[in-house]
Amino acid sequence: MNEWWIMHCKVSLALRVKESSICRSIIVNSISRRCHRHLTSSVIGLLLLFNKNKFWELLETNKRSQKPIKIIKKKNMGRAFVYVILGGGVAAGYAALEFVNRGLSIGELCIISQEPVAPYERPALSKGFLLPEAPARLPSFHTCVGANEERLTPKWYKEHGIELILGTAVKSADVKRKTLLTATGETISYKILIVATGARALKLEEFGVTGSDAENVCYLRDIADANRLVDAIQSSPGGNAVVIGGGYIGMECAASLVINKINVTMVFPEEHCMARLLTSKIASYYEEYYKSKGVDFIKGTVLSSFDFDSDGKVTAVNLRDGRKISVDMVVVGIGIRPNTGLFEGQLTLEKGGIKVNGKLQSSNSSVYAIGDVAAFPVKIFGETRRLEHVDAARKSARHAVAAIMDVDKTDEFDYLPFFYSRVFTLSWQFYGDNAGEVVYYGDMSGGGTTFGAYWVSKGHLVGAFLEGGTKEEYEAIAKATRLRPEIEDLGELERQGLGFAVTTSQKPLPVSLPVDVRASDILLEKPLFAWHATAGVILAASIAAFAYFYGRRRRRL
Ligand SMILES: Cc1cc2nc3c(=O)[nH]c(=O)nc-3n(C[C@H](O)[C@H](O)[C@H](O)COP(=O)(O)OP(=O)(O)OC[C@H]3O[C@@H](n4cnc5c(N)ncnc54)[C@H](O)[C@@H]3O)c2cc1C
Repeated sequence: MNEWWIMHCKVSLALRVKESSICRSIIVNSISRRCHRHLTSSVIGLLLLFNKNKFWELLETNKRSQKPIKIIKKKNMGRAFVYVILGGGVAAGYAALEFVNRGLSIGELCIISQEPVAPYERPALSKGFLLPEAPARLPSFHTCVGANEERLTPKWYKEHGIELILGTAVKSADVKRKTLLTATGETISYKILIVATGARALKLEEFGVTGSDAENVCYLRDIADANRLVDAIQSSPGGNAVVIGGGYIGMECAASLVINKINVTMVFPEEHCMARLLTSKIASYYEEYYKSKGVDFIKGTVLSSFDFDSDGKVTAVNLRDGRKISVDMVVVGIGIRPNTGLFEGQLTLEKGGIKVNGKLQSSNSSVYAIGDVAAFPVKIFGETRRLEHVDAARKSARHAVAAIMDVDKTDEFDYLPFFYSRVFTLSWQFYGDNAGEVVYYGDMSGGGTTFGAYWVSKGHLVGAFLEGGTKEEYEAIAKATRLRPEIEDLGELERQGLGFAVTTSQKPLPVSLPVDVRASDILLEKPLFAWHATAGVILAASIAAFAYFYGRRRRRL
């Protein structure tokens, strides 16, 4: 109550001396308080009651001002921002660029990341970063490089008045109070939160195998992992490596190890590599290519334990089928888990991620989620999916910011899933969904050829894959997939091959997709601002009336 009353007095005084910056600071400051909603609504109530013009003027100046918003920092109180991005990966970088392009004011945005460096293009870690000669190093692959946009170095964030809080993990979040608590004990308040926490690599311990912390056992999710992997590679010249897992991390790491002249054995439980995405026919093309580079495959079994030397280094891996393989180093790529922990019980979760609507808005209207952690409605599938691809991270980030800054002009997110990989001299792209019947085309006889596949479900083309295509051919399969053409004859599709996509892609894209989509079936909490503002006005009016009558009574006495 005291705090509440002090706030009213402060605002009234500030209004009397017509000091708008003080009022603004009080409002910003009030957001960082525990009872911020009531305070803010009371402040709004008072402003409306005493000086309506001032209120709107303040809001407008706040929005347009290029001057920094004064962030009041007091002991244990922390800072308050209009927008906070939690997580500093790919999605965070692209969101920051979109904010700036849409007219972000200085001091409005803060990015908090547990990584010690500014957002970067994560895919580089399994590609250029691992090259033995002229490897990619920061700042060369900070986000937005390669997208014909600016490279977002720490200097870029500074120049645009974006607060980068690096090397700092957020330990808890309170979406009702709109606050985050960092590991350093600071409370960060926000008006809008964008969750971009991505995912973490699954650890062997989660599957009952110990030894992840041995210095020659490597994972690959962030730059610290990548540095550790480079160290392990450099300590094992001409040595033996086992790669556990046959997904894209395993495949890309195996290729990099081969390039670094390390002998590689890949171990995974599935029948073929990239089992979630590729058919056995496509996978066997890549496996044969890898074999030609010296890679051994052990399929249908898993790691059961490690042997260690007296220094704690792994010397051999033991497989469940009884085999033992001597190693100098191990790379583990067994999947990821989205970082949703801070929001469990607070936001609606689905498909392992934070469920959002077509505006990337979660079940709490002040919280958005983007990138690997977001489960969003994919129109082309007619269902909610969570994707773990860099393109989805970039585009969902941009869309969320558009929805936040320009809600009226922003449609529902209409995303065509896209995934790519580049290993050795191979390069493929995949669009859409790998559901239904598969039709192959092209030359799958050996490395360096061009071939592809279409997926046809319920009579429509829903997915397309192409290895070794040109830029125009990749664009053609992307557009053809988006058009979802009707397919009556699979034999004819096979006969036309890539030509089908090229011809189909000449047609114009329809305004809306011919699919039934429930893009916004997420329940948002009821907007409470109106209620709070009204309550604030009523409360303020009662206080003013009470003060008036009390004053008159005292004068009469
Ligand atoms: C090695 C590698 C290679 C890849 N190659 C490809 C590829 O070739 N093609 C492709 O399509 N995709 C690829 N991907 C996937 C792609 O990189 C991801 O889809 C993308 O990075 C997702 O972006 P994001 O911002 O959602 O998450 P991330 O980029 O993972 O960023 C999440 C950030 O949040 C931070 N964070 C998490 N929790 C907290 C917390 N509590 N407090 C503070 N910070 C926190 C993390 O430290 C991290 O900085 C690759 C991924 C990896 C790891």
